[in-house]
Amino acid sequence: MKDKFNRNINYLRISVTDRCNLRCVYCMPAEGVVPISHTEILSFDEIMDVVRKAVSDGVNKIRITGGEPLVRKNIVELVRMIAELEGVTDLGMTTNGILLPKYANELKKAGLQRVNISLDTTDPIRYKEITRLGDIDLVYKGIDAARNAGLQPIKINCVIKESALEPDAQLVAEYCKQNNLEIRYIREMDLENGRFWKVQGGDGGDCKTCNRLRLTSKGMIKPCLFSDLEYSVRALGATSALETALNEKPKRGTISRKNNFSGVGG
Ligand code: SAM
Ligand code: SF4
Repeated sequence: MKDKFNRNINYLRISVTDRCNLRCVYCMPAEGVVPISHTEILSFDEIMDVVRKAVSDGVNKIRITGGEPLVRKNIVELVRMIAELEGVTDLGMTTNGILLPKYANELKKAGLQRVNISLDTTDPIRYKEITRLGDIDLVYKGIDAARNAGLQPIKINCVIKESALEPDAQLVAEYCKQNNLEIRYIREMDLENGRFWKVQGGDGGDCKTCNRLRLTSKGMIKPCLFSDLEYSVRALGATSALETALNEKPKRGTISRKNNFSGVGG
């Protein structure tokens, strides 16, 4: 489907939860977010209504994210339902990797193709500082599990302050080189103050070529991460919410006071 600036929108990112088993300093407050209640969070049936409509309109690429997608109950089932849809040719997940040892095989069997795993340093102490809770060995185990399960490509998302030459980023680059992994540098963004950048090594953050819509765990379709526009699936229905988001997708992002990475999924 084309938006009014003739961009081909073929990519839907779905945030399946706002909860997370980590508390990365650039993403969440130390105490975590106030969790969305069970009635507020979209059911798998409601998510699938949106996905079906989006796919019938030409979306072929889907990424599951969060919060941490692997803490959503029965996430493998959702992956299976999406993978079974004719027209989905690219199904990926962005995860912090901590729960991949438990789920990688099941996810692959259910039809997940690839994963992006977040890793901002290889220094265990710095990792703990950045994530507030994380044990880096579990991420390494998660990366191994993803590889052994045949999920590919495995890309590493590395958040940087300003430059890929920062010491933590250099450590991750070295690790990726040794382990034959692709790296994407995401410069830390501040949505509220309109500070966002293109992803180095990826294609996010480039308004001219933006091809995506987002669905939040509360059921809002967001045409742009850097804008407060959002359309409720429950209030409008999947068809109308998607169509309105497509038609209202801004030419370029500005600022967002409502969006945050843990809720919208980055
Ligand atoms: N929990 C999963 C993870 O960390 O990979 C998926 C959700 S997380 C919000 C998605 C991506 O957004 C991660 O790669 C994370 O590093 C990135 N992210 C979070 N907060 C950010 C910020 N303020 N600026 C730039 N990237 C951010
Ligand atoms: Fe959790 Fe991912 Fe946010 Fe870190 S970046 S707190 S792992 S949602």
